[in-house]
Amino acid sequence: MERVKALIRDVPDFPREGILFKDITPVLGDPVAFELVVGGLHEALEGLDVTKVVGIESRGFIFGAAVARSLGAGFVPVRKPGKLPHRTRTVEYELEYGTDRLEIHEDAVSAGDRVVVVDDLLATGGTAEATGRLLAELGAEVERYAFVIELTFLGGRARLGEEKVLSLIQY
Ligand code: AMP
Repeated sequence: MERVKALIRDVPDFPREGILFKDITPVLGDPVAFELVVGGLHEALEGLDVTKVVGIESRGFIFGAAVARSLGAGFVPVRKPGKLPHRTRTVEYELEYGTDRLEIHEDAVSAGDRVVVVDDLLATGGTAEATGRLLAELGAEVERYAFVIELTFLGGRARLGEEKVLSLIQY
């Protein structure tokens, strides 16, 4: 993972002052690093008998779709409001200032589905937790929350349940 870590670019004050943004686009641009990430997630998740990989908009789509294909599972997008065309379920969650919403197609998962939630980065865990609530409402079982990067000092792991979280690179 050292090759991958070396490619993650720190961008200070993006998208606003005080945030150190972890830019993973150089990882995507390097075929060896991209394969290391997808292979690393695959290894950590194989054997869980996953039926659906749920990717969180938008960087979660990139890694989630690749991992879904490699695991032989379906892919389900969780999107910002107003993007999904069919009937949706919505969840509202707290941000530092105000609230935000996420949506899923209501027929995208159902009882009996064993799901992995994928995103590029775990910070406070609010986004992944909200996604977990949507999936629980639809009756699916969340087996793991999988991330490329985990910002350990923000405590997202404890919020999601220690044993359910996996990440490839920690800061
Ligand atoms: P959170 O809900 O706090 O865990 O935030 C996670 C979401 O925000 C993920 O979709 C991340 O892509 C994004 N995010 C939060 N902090 C950062 C950061 N420092 N660098 C890049 N993306 C971030």
